[in-house]
Amino acid sequence: MVRYGAGALVTAAAIAWMYPLSAPAAAASVDTTTPAMAMAPPAPEPAFSFDSMPGRLPKDVVPERYEIAVTPQIKTMSLAGHESVTLKVRSTTDRLVFNSLNETLSRVRFDGQPVKSVASDDEHQLTTVRLARPASVGSHRLTFDYSGKIETRPQGLFLQPYAYPGGTSGQMLATQMESTDARRMFPCWDEPAFRAVFELTVTLPSGWAALSNMPVSKRTGHGSLETVRFEPTPKMPSYLVAFVGGDLGHLDAESGATKLGVWAVRGQEENGRYALANAAQILADYNDYFGYIFPLPKLDSISIPGGFSGAMENWGAITYMEELLMLPPSSTLSQEQQIYSTQAHEMAHQWNGDLVTMGWWDDLWLNESFASWMAAKETALRNPSWQWWEQEDSSKESAMRADAQPNSPPIQQHVTDELQASNAFDPSITYNKGQSILRMLEAYLGPDPFRDGIRRYMKAHAFSNATTTDLWTALSAATGNDVERIAGDWTRLPGFPLVHVDSTCAADGARTVHLTQTRFLSTGGTAEASHWSIPLLLRIGSHGQPQAQLSSGAAIASGGCSEPLSLNADAIGYYRVQYDAATLKTNTAHFGELPNGDRIALLDDQWALVLAQAQPLDSYLALASRMGGDLDTRAWQQISAALGTIEYDERGSAGHDGFTAYARSVLAPAFAALGWDAKPGQTPDQEELRRTLISELGSWGDEEVIRGARQRFEAFLKDPASLPASDQPAILAVVAYHADANTFEQLHKLARGAKNLSEIERFYVALAQVRDPQLAEKAGEIAFSSEFPPQAVQARLQMVGALAHEHPALGWRLFSAHAHELLKSQGTFEVFVEAQVVPQIFWNSAPLSEIEAWVHGKVPAEMAPEVERGMAGARLRVSQKELLVREADKLARSKS
Ligand SMILES: [Zn+2]
Repeated sequence: MVRYGAGALVTAAAIAWMYPLSAPAAAASVDTTTPAMAMAPPAPEPAFSFDSMPGRLPKDVVPERYEIAVTPQIKTMSLAGHESVTLKVRSTTDRLVFNSLNETLSRVRFDGQPVKSVASDDEHQLTTVRLARPASVGSHRLTFDYSGKIETRPQGLFLQPYAYPGGTSGQMLATQMESTDARRMFPCWDEPAFRAVFELTVTLPSGWAALSNMPVSKRTGHGSLETVRFEPTPKMPSYLVAFVGGDLGHLDAESGATKLGVWAVRGQEENGRYALANAAQILADYNDYFGYIFPLPKLDSISIPGGFSGAMENWGAITYMEELLMLPPSSTLSQEQQIYSTQAHEMAHQWNGDLVTMGWWDDLWLNESFASWMAAKETALRNPSWQWWEQEDSSKESAMRADAQPNSPPIQQHVTDELQASNAFDPSITYNKGQSILRMLEAYLGPDPFRDGIRRYMKAHAFSNATTTDLWTALSAATGNDVERIAGDWTRLPGFPLVHVDSTCAADGARTVHLTQTRFLSTGGTAEASHWSIPLLLRIGSHGQPQAQLSSGAAIASGGCSEPLSLNADAIGYYRVQYDAATLKTNTAHFGELPNGDRIALLDDQWALVLAQAQPLDSYLALASRMGGDLDTRAWQQISAALGTIEYDERGSAGHDGFTAYARSVLAPAFAALGWDAKPGQTPDQEELRRTLISELGSWGDEEVIRGARQRFEAFLKDPASLPASDQPAILAVVAYHADANTFEQLHKLARGAKNLSEIERFYVALAQVRDPQLAEKAGEIAFSSEFPPQAVQARLQMVGALAHEHPALGWRLFSAHAHELLKSQGTFEVFVEAQVVPQIFWNSAPLSEIEAWVHGKVPAEMAPEVERGMAGARLRVSQKELLVREADKLARSKS
């Protein structure tokens, strides 16, 4: 699954979902826990076995095949169902226990005979059936009728209304089962190790398209309704069952033996051409990479307009929120990137997740980290001009910011209930950290041996489940390494190391470095040694291949003292490096010549060390100011985000204008090299950089940029073709920051005329970037007016986010009053966003005590750890602001 909005998908996203321009995510300031390395690492878990998996359901009765017939009744938002389950009884029992929620069972029969009792308990989401007499070991059949609910949010079977500009409106049905909501549509053994065959039948308004994991086997019309039966699935977990029904159109293609379809609300399907081509390419690549041909006859990609925030890997029937699948005319490059990388993520799950599923939610990372890593690898492979791995550095940084909190969770977390299963989808840790660990491991083991290990793993566990130990076993067998020994601590322990480099210089100029490690903490670290097995990538000088080696206590000969040295070449490693003063000085002097990745790693680490009060601000600025006219996008985006954070924090302080002038001067050479308009030979990546620079310089009051943006806006109003779609967000943002009432009205008119969801998002979000307080109030009213079509939920969320950035109190007032509506599309994840993300976004909007009280009022008491992480992040951000203001003012004084 991908969670969009709360941040799983895009990089800096855990925070940037509502914070488009700067502001790094934060970490904790109060250390209430013992640093991780002081604890003995937990023991590795055993290999997968059905009987040893945690879970609430007894394992003496196992479903083998479900036949489920459902009739949704949209008028009453209810459903009527009939279910027949073939069961294997493994030891004699007179009791069946399975999951159900908000359902009433009737006519319950076991092998055709009435049962003694049926009790459904919604609090524990269980139904217990007592049999009239004990069932013998062997095959049996349970049948019943039931009634249930159609949901209004993406949990189980839900109804999604939509209305497109131009008049198309209607409603459709869709499902979202992961983690534990299949039980809302049909009673079932709703835990991932209970794999079974599902044969689904649904009765719908006639003429509606009907999609599920497998192709339709039979359609029967009766009056205004139609009954659609699907072919039985392979054995799979219940959370992968999918159903979508509505007035849909589609595009088709074939890839090998697999039929590919892209489905959308009728009339929108043409916007799926890009996704269809991507799907064909990705499927062919993955068939090869995994060494296992996609085993289902078809793979559909289905666009859901606004109903849920993200995408879901249902086997053979992937659902996407519309923005993550459809590419309407006048879309932007960043939309293309989001679509490609999301498809690559969900399609990787067709193997890692669907063909092989984690045994229990403790190992969710096997699904999510893997899909994220695979998606980045595939996106980078097929779109080299995007410099995708450099862009993914921001995902790694968002993980490291969260993971530098003293109370951050490890990748593998023990899950005991439904709420914890949902909260395990933590975007920073389960997605971004896990992806980074896999990349580091692949670089150390070698891409080909690593792939061979993945192939072994797929083959060994196909149509079954696995644990982390099973993955390490397969990788060890393929690579000849003890992978558990290298990798185990990275998934079982929270945090990551700071590698301290201590160099000595011999009389002949030869350098030797001694390395030590401690856990890196945003609060400045601990003196206690840590013991991660660190796969270092060492580069001496500015060129040449890096050497891979595992960290050890031994001294390392590392070239000459006058040569730069990188301990994290190409920024692949998930650790930070603190160089001694002499090596940092040499690295700084040679900064301009270093490979991009080495520079990115230096910038990331030095900035993090500044924020942790381990290094002075000018040590970072000395690097940033040496970029000159170099055009590496990620390095510049790192710099502009850091400078943007300082500019934001400095607002209202004496040093603001001085610092801002300095920040503009740092970016000026790159903007001078790129200019306003695309030039032949510029890569898409460099064009993105140009847009970033325009937006930042405009936000920092660069008169020339503001004037240039206004001219382009005027021309755009007269001739929309004059401004490429990808350039529009940056130009509109600059115009909107500085808009007066007249310009605001022009922007509003533009937004009202938006022709598709892409334009709606772009134009309305621009409105919300206005700095004039009265116009901002007006933008807030517009965000909640009936102008918004129901599927534009993300645009509204982004408007509130933009308002919160410029007008914190207004943003908080709007958000706190409408949180449930704004986060409805997050489904079960809403409470996680409220607990852990909201405090870190609104840290400067209201007193922290008020925010904390608000959060506690929204989320279950069980989520105290998540609330504490969110609040610790907010407190840290407050203290970082004080630090940055102090440092920047000091710097301004020294320069004046
Ligand atoms: Zn996923």
